[in-house]
Amino acid sequence: MNRTSASARRKGQLSFLETESGSPWENFLAQIDAVIPHLGELSRWSETLKRPKRALVVDVPIILDDGSVAHFEGFRVHHNISRGPAKGGVRFHQDSTLNEVMALAGWMTIKNAVVNLPFGGGKGAVRVDPRLLSQEELERLTRRYTSEISSMIGPDKDIPAPDVNTNAQTMAWMMDTYASSNGHTVNSVVTGKPIALGGSIGRIEATGKGVFLTTCAVLRALGDSLEGKRIAVQGFGNVGGIAAQFLQAAGAKIVAVQDVDGCVVNPAGIDVPKLLAHKDVTRGIRDSRLGDDADRKDLWDVDADILIPAAIESQITASVAARIRTRIVVEGANGPTTPEADRVLAERGITVVPDVLANAGGVIVSYFEWVQGFNSLFWREPEVASRLEQILIEAFNEVWDTHVAVGTSLRGAAYILGCRRVLQARQQRGLYP
Ligand code: NAD
Repeated sequence: MNRTSASARRKGQLSFLETESGSPWENFLAQIDAVIPHLGELSRWSETLKRPKRALVVDVPIILDDGSVAHFEGFRVHHNISRGPAKGGVRFHQDSTLNEVMALAGWMTIKNAVVNLPFGGGKGAVRVDPRLLSQEELERLTRRYTSEISSMIGPDKDIPAPDVNTNAQTMAWMMDTYASSNGHTVNSVVTGKPIALGGSIGRIEATGKGVFLTTCAVLRALGDSLEGKRIAVQGFGNVGGIAAQFLQAAGAKIVAVQDVDGCVVNPAGIDVPKLLAHKDVTRGIRDSRLGDDADRKDLWDVDADILIPAAIESQITASVAARIRTRIVVEGANGPTTPEADRVLAERGITVVPDVLANAGGVIVSYFEWVQGFNSLFWREPEVASRLEQILIEAFNEVWDTHVAVGTSLRGAAYILGCRRVLQARQQRGLYP
């Protein structure tokens, strides 16, 4: 849809919001538009959700190991900060764009509100294929990017975390760079740090564990259980790999796994710990002998009960949605399902647990890490685990009850709850001046 209509221009539409149909930001806007009729008087403020608060594009130059200079494009976006500091990950990916980062920041605003954390939504990225850089080059890239976005981040301003192709080491470099220019250690500027630097126990597995917990919750709500369920997983990284591990340990069968380079299928169930070990050595899932190596797109035809997309956005398109054979989709990734696909899944009676709920475990434990950092007091594993489960299941129940009461999809229900919380904050704060 072209967003440069006369009414949009009257509202002062910004040029960088003019985007291609089907882009992640357009998909986010369509998801917001779908719930505006349910927001009552608060809908007066809904335009605030359709434009990022601020967006920074930076040049990230580094010296490569061979002595040449390379330039990369970096982004950091604050979508909304009505409820607290911006919070959201940083990804390194060769296809990242400002449009994608705006959508990812928007999804963080909704997610943080759905699980009722005192955060707004932010996100960042560097447009780079990190597989082409050495560890030393990656460190220089991370440090220069951190320095370039330093005016945006801070423990009470915006707190980055790991996302696709970034990890605890990336966060350690970000924290050290920020701390070095401030002259003192600032633990709470990032989350997802190594435990020795103030990271929280349970953060690495939190998102995958949250996917596991919400999968169990939706099965319970549907009067079913996890025992013996056949699950197909797209993406075998921090989210997909760990979710698969929890699900298998609790009695499910992982019958197919796809990553960026391949697909493994085994109707009898893939041994997940062995596949993770194979991936640690080979950096991929091919030639594992833990199932048949298949074409990547074969994942969509696998006979299974549950599909977990845990790679990148816009993977479940309308044609994929018409093809899949599962009756439940649990979104580990951010924005994996396009709005057209959502309609197809709804028509086919397939239940979708939306990203803003299903993958919120990571940001919940990031919140715990931030709180622990401020207090210089660290919780043990049982405390982290029980608090995570409590927050996530409470949010799941609220979303489920709204879905039943209003008669919307679970995504619609989550957006109603999340948008209401953000717009209530906007309304109560009022506009300055
Ligand atoms: P990761 O880098 O650890 O793993 C990504 C996985 O996806 C890899 O196995 C990779 O091979 C695969 N992949 C990438 N592109 C693919 C493609 N086109 N087709 C198939 N597979 C592909 O990243 P992650 O942290 O696991 O993040 C995955 C998703 O979950 C992203 O959408 C991210 O935004 C979201 N997410 C992550 C966290 C977190 O805590 N890491 C929290 C919430 C949401």
